[in-house]
Amino acid sequence: MEKNALIAAKKLTVEFSLSGNKKVHAVSDVSLDVYEHEVLALVGESGCGKSTLGKAMVQLIRPTGGEVSFKGTPITGMSRKAFQEYRRQMQIVFQDPYASLDPRMSVRDIVAEPLETHCVCPTKAETTERVVELLKAVGLTSDHLYRYAHQFSGGQRQRIGIARAIALNPAFIVCDEPVSALDVSVQNQILNLLKDLQGRFGLTYLFISHDLSVVRFIADRVCVMFLGKLCELGDTETIYEKPMHPYTRFLLDAIPKADPHQRRGERLLLSGELPSPVNPPSGCRFHTRCPYATGKCKATEPPLHSVEGRLVACHLYE
Ligand code: SF4
Repeated sequence: MEKNALIAAKKLTVEFSLSGNKKVHAVSDVSLDVYEHEVLALVGESGCGKSTLGKAMVQLIRPTGGEVSFKGTPITGMSRKAFQEYRRQMQIVFQDPYASLDPRMSVRDIVAEPLETHCVCPTKAETTERVVELLKAVGLTSDHLYRYAHQFSGGQRQRIGIARAIALNPAFIVCDEPVSALDVSVQNQILNLLKDLQGRFGLTYLFISHDLSVVRFIADRVCVMFLGKLCELGDTETIYEKPMHPYTRFLLDAIPKADPHQRRGERLLLSGELPSPVNPPSGCRFHTRCPYATGKCKATEPPLHSVEGRLVACHLYE
C-alpha cells in the first residue's frame, strides 16, 4: 500500500552566515518524507544538524533552500497569516523541560496559551476545562493547575510541555531530544506516554535523538544524519539488525551491551576529529573519519540509493 507523506522535505538546506563570508552548512540538500501516523527517528551526534532540520520542517527556522510540504501543500515561504493554520497542526516538544517553561506562569496559563492564541475556547472557564483534560491526558491532575514549573520534577515538566504541544490537536510533533535531560527511569515513563498519545490521537512524530537505545523502543523508521547529510534511512529493525553505512555501524556499536555476545563482530573505530560544518569535507562528508574511505569517497558525494530494503549513501554499496 502506498504510504502518504504527512510532511515532506525536498532538497532542504539551512545555512547560517558567520562573519568573514563564512557559513555553517547545518543541513545540506536533505529530502525526507515523514509518513502519516509513524514515528521517524532522526539520529546522529550533536552538531549533525538534526535539530536544525526538525525546526526547519516546522518553519521555526527559515530554510535557505529547498521546500517543505505539509499534506502536499508547500509551506516554505508562506506568509505568516497563511501559515497560521498550519502552525497549529505542527508542534514541538523541546529537549530541556527546565528551560522551555516560563517560570512566572502557572501550569494553567502555560497550557492555555496556545488555546487562547488560537481562540479555541469561547470562555475562560472552558479553556480551563480543556487544560484539565490535557493535564489528565499526560498523567497530571487538576491539583497541578495553579502550580509553577519550579514546583515540578523534570519528568513532570516534560509532561507539561507535552500537554502544551498537544493542546491544539496537532497532526505532527517534532520531539527534539525529549528525554535526554531526564533520568533513565523517567525517560521510560515519558517514552511510554509519547507512544500512548501517538496511538490515542493518531499523531506523527519526528523523534530527534542522539541516543540509539531510546530510538529503538519508539521509532518505526530511523534516519541517520552526519554533518548535515542523510547517511541511511530504513525500518528500525532493518537498520538495527543489519546497519550498512559505516557511520550507522559506528553509532550502533557505541550502544553499551549488557551481554557481550550481542556484539556484531569487530567494533568499528573511527579516525580523526569530527569535521566542521563551516568547512565540510569534499565528496562523502564522512570520508575523513571512515576506515573504508577511498579516492572516490574524497572526490564524489555518494547519492542515497536503495539497497536491501533501505536507503544508504555510501560508495561501498553501489
Ligand atoms: Fe566511507 Fe566512502 Fe562510504 Fe563515505 S562513501 S561512508 S567514506 S566508504
